Amino acid sequence: MLNKNQEIQLSITSLSVEGAGIGKTDDGITVFVSDALPGDEVLAHIIKVKKTYAIAITKELITPSPFRVEALCPVAKKCGGCTFQHLSYAKQLEFKQEQVKACLERIGGIKNPPMEEIIGAENIYHYRNKAQFPVSKDSDSKPIIGFYRRHSHDVVPNTDCAIQASEDAIILSEVQAFLREEEIPSYDEVTGKGLVRHIFTRIGFASRELMVCLVCNGGKLPKAEKLIERLIDASGRVGLKLESLLVNVNKDNTNVIIGKETHVIYGRDYIEDSIGNIRYHISMPSFYQVNPEQTRKLYDKAMEYACLTGTEIVWDLYCGIGTISLYLASKAKKVYGVEIVPEAIENARENASINNINNAEFFVGAAEDVADTLPAPDVIVVDPPRKGCDEKLIETILRVKPVRIVYVSCDPATLARDLCKLINGGYELKHVQPVDQFCQTSHVESVALLVKERSDEEKH
Ligand code: SAH
Repeated sequence: MLNKNQEIQLSITSLSVEGAGIGKTDDGITVFVSDALPGDEVLAHIIKVKKTYAIAITKELITPSPFRVEALCPVAKKCGGCTFQHLSYAKQLEFKQEQVKACLERIGGIKNPPMEEIIGAENIYHYRNKAQFPVSKDSDSKPIIGFYRRHSHDVVPNTDCAIQASEDAIILSEVQAFLREEEIPSYDEVTGKGLVRHIFTRIGFASRELMVCLVCNGGKLPKAEKLIERLIDASGRVGLKLESLLVNVNKDNTNVIIGKETHVIYGRDYIEDSIGNIRYHISMPSFYQVNPEQTRKLYDKAMEYACLTGTEIVWDLYCGIGTISLYLASKAKKVYGVEIVPEAIENARENASINNINNAEFFVGAAEDVADTLPAPDVIVVDPPRKGCDEKLIETILRVKPVRIVYVSCDPATLARDLCKLINGGYELKHVQPVDQFCQTSHVESVALLVKERSDEEKH
């Protein structure tokens, strides 16, 4: 038995989904140890004992793991953003590969899942094109920009994040200097007073266009012209062009970052970027994959799995701004995209038009509701948020029986759940390809291919 506050020596052998080290006591009790990595020998301080497991913190690192590396970011330990900066990249990839496999086996009940070797990234730092930094205040009540401490809403000041686009450091220090010099108050979550809540940035890595949005507790930003001037200048210094400066209004005292109302302060309400030879308009509320280098590889895999010859009807469900739809359109007869965010569909339609693509049509609505109304598909691509596909959509897919289903997923647990339903509905799982879109974090993206099982005489 373990007791709270007990200290025990543990060998860490694996990692949890959240990135905690896992060790076992001599009695076989699993202990989740924060700040511990596979290969570490630690003195663990037990903080919570449950029926089948315990939770501990690392009191002392007795022998460090050979897979430990120096974190690039000085606040890596405090900040809640990166869980894996101390783990060698090769081990990060191994963990993600194992995690996807384990989910498919345990949650999906899939024996020997057809795993492809995870596609790693070349640029494992400064790869993100989008960020949402919380704004708070220091002990002198002056604005600070940073990141939330793990499991909290305290802001760890940091304008130089190791995984964000390196240009963000300059942009954010400029915004912070503006807020301080013009004495613009940070929003206070407790009192609901103050103005600036979050700074949103998005950079087109290919286009070099910059969008900055200040999420505010009100629509009016004092001295906005000074911020415009500063940001035009600062972005120019790092080879970017400020194309969009926005104020988003969020007066609600909730954890939701972005509010419904947005004002353009300077430029347009979107930036442009491209993936391969397709150009995209991206507005602030629209989803856009965060790691451009890896997105390209992910979409190429989706394209390969879709196996298009030019005659197919394709559904691209959860299509965002139509990125995958337009990527596939040149090889399909017709693509139907469905997405719940109206601004994203507006972008998707513009995107078809600016690329002279005439065989893609887009619909606003929930995939599970709209899918029912579309012409029968040969291929279905789904790319749902973490909660996976709605049960009703799975039923529709099984009823319309596409030849191929390409499932793009950012959560291996819901992927496994949904794959299991599709396999039970008569599909064969051909490939599962993890792609590391989120280096230094425990998140993992995958793309899977399912093909309709054929009767014996059809097989060759
Ligand atoms: N395939 C796109 C977007 C994937 S992210 C890309 O690669 O860029 C998932 C998208 O699903 C988001 O744009 C989100 O707004 C949308 N979404 C969430 N729930 C939805 C639902 N029930 N029906 C349709 N779209 C939904």
